[in-house]
Parts: sequence; structure tokens; C-alpha cells
Amino acid sequence: MIPIAKPIITEAEKRRVLEVMDSGMLASGAYVKDFSEKFAEFIGTKYAAAASSGTAALHTALLAAGIKEGDKVATTPFTFIASSNSILYTGAEPVFVDIDPETYNIDADKLERKLQADPDISALLIVHLYGLSCDMDRIMELVEKYNLTLIEDCAQSHGAEYKEKKVGTFGDTSIFSFYPTKNMTTGEGGIVLTNNEEIYNKAAKIINHGQAEKYYHDQLGYNFRMTNIAAAVGLVQLEKLPEFNLTRIENAALFDLEFSDLNWLKTPSVPDGLKHVYHQYTVRVNDREKFADYLEEKGIGYGIHYPLTVNKQPYYKKLGYAELKFAEAEKAADEVISLPVHPSLSDSDLEQIVEVVKNYKK
Ligand SMILES: *Cc1c(COP(=O)(O)O)cnc(C)c1O
Repeated sequence: MIPIAKPIITEAEKRRVLEVMDSGMLASGAYVKDFSEKFAEFIGTKYAAAASSGTAALHTALLAAGIKEGDKVATTPFTFIASSNSILYTGAEPVFVDIDPETYNIDADKLERKLQADPDISALLIVHLYGLSCDMDRIMELVEKYNLTLIEDCAQSHGAEYKEKKVGTFGDTSIFSFYPTKNMTTGEGGIVLTNNEEIYNKAAKIINHGQAEKYYHDQLGYNFRMTNIAAAVGLVQLEKLPEFNLTRIENAALFDLEFSDLNWLKTPSVPDGLKHVYHQYTVRVNDREKFADYLEEKGIGYGIHYPLTVNKQPYYKKLGYAELKFAEAEKAADEVISLPVHPSLSDSDLEQIVEVVKNYKK
């Protein structure tokens, strides 16, 4: 079976982890500081606060950006549950806006209509899904016009660009995840980025029990710290990220070419001027369950990202979101399927994926 995701861990990561083991400083320390600085430099922000997961980073970023109980935060219903859950953690209310069916990201026109209809919306959590940036010219126009706090969920878009500017540099704050399936990993891990010193100071404190000085806590915080062990893995992975992304982009280009004449399958679209980093290579078909069974039978791993819109998740149903209708997000949830595109695929894996997909309707 060709897996849908597989991290590349080499001797270099193992050596650095052993260094940490030998140092005895297993929890947060010098490696975390070094990793945070290097990751912020790579993306292009002034500050970074590393966290124990992307979800912890999201929770922290929203709190540090001032999101609080009773606030309304616009976001997409077509994402991993953590995006919207992080809004709930703060006591704020997610306000879902449908997606653009071409990019799978939040639809800026529908967002504007929602902002006009509900002046209480004070913040926007965007998700650059599958490795593709949102429409940032339109988003930034709306952020200014409606005076919104902007948080970017870049958990799937390490190194993705909008007109040569990396995602994660547009918002008041942004987050990345380093879960093993993402474009680079630290095992579990995440990071909060910002150019705002005040947001950075708040985030660093929230991650570390609201501690201002040793054993002096002046606000409610959490233990969301990254470990040196995770950071040691991240330092090596970060060096390889550009090469990992390049391989993803090459693999995607091969699929685009090979699948271009299949009229029953829609390949990903990339608007002009955007750099897609293919966290997922997600296509659309109208008989997904059958296609998925076929892939399984032929030994090709796949993923469904995501089978349900967030508002239709059982927990969100209980909160009263189930009645809402998002036509494009729901259609996408019924039709999308992701094929393996990760950098551990061999040439023969790629050939096999191409062959199997092309033979489906023959
Ligand atoms: C993975 C992911 C997260 C959460 O990251 P974890 O490190 O798994 O907690 C948040 N948002 C999106 C869009 C993700 O894909």
C-alpha cells in the first residue's frame, strides 16, 4: 500500500535528538528557542512562540490576539476541526462562510456579504487549505474596511506564497502545525508567529502558565510548551522543507499533466501568482465512494479531507449549527479525495498512482 502520508526521518534528526537526550534538557530550552527563531526567519515574521501542537498554537494565537467570550469570528466550515474549535475554546462564536469551489478556501464575496449583514463580527480566522493561499488581496481589503483582527491557520501551508509573500505574514498572528503528516514535522508541535511584540509577549506567556517571573503568574495560562526533543527534529526538518516542498510541487505537476484529459476527475486549480505547496493533492470526482474502494483495492492510500463540513459535525449539531447551509463546502465534502503527493514517493510509486488512476474508467 502506498501511504497517503509518510514523514522522512533520517540519521540527521536522530543525531540531534540524541544530542538533546545526552544534554539532559528534555523539555523547553535552547533548541526550542533556536527552532522558533529559525522558523520565524524562514516565514518572515519578527517573533515566534513554539507550542506543543498546532491546536495549542491556534488557541494561544486567538487569546493573544484578544479574542474573548462573546466575540464573533468569521471562518470556513471546510477545514480540520481544530480551526473552528480554537474559536470555541476562547468562548467566542464561529460564524461560518462558504468556500470558493475552485480553491476550497473561504469565498471573499460571501465573506463581505456576511460582514455587511453582521457588524458584530470582529475577527477573521482564515485557513490556507491543502497548501494553497487564500485570496489575500481581497481578504486584506476586507480586514481594513471592516477593521478585523486577522488570524491565519497555516497548518497546511508551510512555505506557500501569495504573490511572492509567504502565508503566515499577513495576519495579526498566524500558526503552523508540525504534526507528522504536514509538510514538515516535529512529532507533535506548533508555532505562533507575529510581527506584533505585544501579541508575542502574550502568546509566550499563555504557553507557559501565564508566568511573568519564576512562579509568579499574573494571568491564566496553559502548559502548551514545545519540547527540546521536538525542536531538535524541527531544526533538521526546517532545513529540508524547501526541498520537500519542491518535490511535492513536482509530483503535483506530474499528476496535473497525466490527469489533464480525464474528464471525470478535477485536478487542483492554482490562481495566477500563487505558490501551492500541496500539503494535499486533492481532486474531485462524483462517485467518490466507488473511486476510494477502487484505490484501496489497487493499493493506493487516499484521504478524505474532509467528509463533513464543520457545522455538520455531531458536536456542532448539538450547538445548533446543523441547519446552516453551505452549498459549495457540502458539495466539496461529498466529492474530494486526496492522493499521495508527499516527498517519500518513489518514481515507481508515482508511476503506479498515475497508472491506477488513469485506468479507473477504462
Ligand atoms: C493539522 C491542522 C491543525 C491542528 O494541528 P495539530 O498540530 O494537529 O494540533 C489545525 N488546522 C488545520 C487546518 C490543520 O490541518
